Amino acid sequence: MMKAYDSNCIFCKIAQGEIPSEIVYQDEKVTAFYDLSPKAPVHILIIPNGHYTDLNDCREEDAALLGHILLAAAKIAGEKGIGETGYRVIVNDGPDAGQTVFHLHYHLLGGRPMTFSV
Ligand code: 5GP
Ligand code: ZN
Repeated sequence: MMKAYDSNCIFCKIAQGEIPSEIVYQDEKVTAFYDLSPKAPVHILIIPNGHYTDLNDCREEDAALLGHILLAAAKIAGEKGIGETGYRVIVNDGPDAGQTVFHLHYHLLGGRPMTFSV
């Protein structure tokens, strides 16, 4: 069953179209939209439509949803022309990872070479 809407959450509002954003993909499970302050030529956020705070908030029953998000990332990457040049998918989960918005989101980044640094 899909998680509930949280009226205090900015990404819930984006998924519902209550706050404007440049949506690149949406279906009954997920929404993808451009990051407000892009850190690469392509920087898209992919979120579940329901409110999950982070990965810790997910359960076994959410496995298909989480897989669906990754498949959406690959599909969007192809559509945005970075399927072959490469891309990175990142989840910042919790304080040490620098999570700032507490609605689970996957960053899809590409369009330039990246180094690996943490
Ligand atoms: P985090 O640091 O939590 O992994 O990433 C949150 C991301 O959400 C940041 O990259 C930030 O630029 C983006 N963001 C925050 N508020 C908004 C918003 O209102 N609209 C959009 N499109 N992106 C946002
Ligand atoms: Zn939310």
